[in-house]
Order: sequence, then structure tokens, then C-alpha cells
Amino acid sequence: MNEFDAAFFRRWLAAARAAVDREADHLTELDSAIGDADHGANLKRGFAAVTEVLDKEPPATPGAVLTTAGRQLISTVGGASGPLYGTLLRHTGKALGEAASVTRQDLATALAAGVAAVGQLGGAQVGDKTMLDALVPAAEALGDSFAAARDAAEAGALATVPLRARKGRASYLGERSVGHQDPGATSSALLIAALAEVAAG
Ligand code: ADP
Ligand code: MG
Repeated sequence: MNEFDAAFFRRWLAAARAAVDREADHLTELDSAIGDADHGANLKRGFAAVTEVLDKEPPATPGAVLTTAGRQLISTVGGASGPLYGTLLRHTGKALGEAASVTRQDLATALAAGVAAVGQLGGAQVGDKTMLDALVPAAEALGDSFAAARDAAEAGALATVPLRARKGRASYLGERSVGHQDPGATSSALLIAALAEVAAG
């Protein structure tokens, strides 16, 4: 069984930062249709701060990498997505505990706990047109493989297009939110794709 250590998790977050940088304009475009056009900038600032702190003082365990990253997102991102992604990473990291390395199965279980914490914090469920529409199926599919998680997150993000937003800023638009892809579900798919990419080596 493959084991993933703290360095792997730092590579994941570095790849996530690169993906967010590359797609920032697209994320902001999606957020300008059903939000306030700051999602790309929010995540760019947040993930730059995350990789900076992880490079400066690399934590020793996968759990500590994720809890440190989560704290950093909460303190640097003003929008709704900062506390939500911060909660995701902090709770996933806490669930990983103090192990020096973890299996994909460990991560799948921990990610499910992180995703549940996002649901608790934001009160959203699958189908409400939020990041959870990508994250819930991704955490489930991670039990099968990294590639399955990536595909499930991408499918989940695409599936937000016909939905009416029931949480967050987009919900203020009511019916007018229909026909647009959710920015947070889209960025969640990017984060899971970054994970699959580093796992593939
Ligand atoms: P803000 O909405 O404060 O401008 P962002 O633009 O950075 O923050 O993030 C918007 C994204 O956050 C949405 O596309 C959605 O996926 C996610 N989001 C907003 N509210 C919630 C919630 N209550 N639960 C889960 N995700 C949410
Ligand atoms: Mg926004």
C-alpha cells in the first residue's frame, strides 16, 4: 500500500496554488455571473499565503500540513470560501492525526470528515450549488482512486450548471443563478485535480 508523507501534501498544495493561479481569471468570471467577481482573487491570495508558510516552516506530518494550510486560508481570505476551505483543510488534517504518513484510504476517510465540517459550517447540502457538489462525490470516490475522485469532482462541478443556488451570495439571485457553473465547485474540482496530478507523480 502506498503511503503519503508531509512532503507529498506540500506538493499537493503547491500544485493547487499553481492551478488556482492559472485558473484565477476563469474563477473570477464564474463568480462575476452569480457572485461578486472575487473568487479567483480570494483563492490566489489564500493559496499564495499557504505555500509561503509551508515553505518557511515545513510541518512534519500530513495532518499538520493541512491544519496549517487551513488556518492560513481562514486568516487571509475574506470571502465565504476562506473559512469554508480553511475548515475543510483543518478538519481533514485533524482527522489524519499525527501519523508521519497516511494511505489514500486514510485520506478518503479524513476528507469525508473535512467535507462534513464544511456542511456543518455553511449549512449546505449536495444540490445547493456550492463547493459541496464537487467535494462530497470526490471524497466518496477517493475510496476507489485519485483519478476517480478527480473525475467525480469535475462531474459534480459541471452538474451545478442547471441548479438554483440555495446557499451563499449566488442564492440572492434565485432563478437567475440557473445556467451558470458554481465558482466554488469549480475551484474544488481544481484542488482535487491537483491531488490526482501529484499522486500520479
Ligand atoms: P463570497 O461569496 O463571499 O464572495 P467566494 O466568491 O470566494 O466568496 O466564494 C464563493 C463560493 O463559496 C461559492 O461559489 C460556493 O461554492 C461557496 N459557498 C458559499 N456559501 C457556501 C455555503 N454556505 N456552503 C458551502 N459553500 C459555499
Ligand atoms: Mg465572491
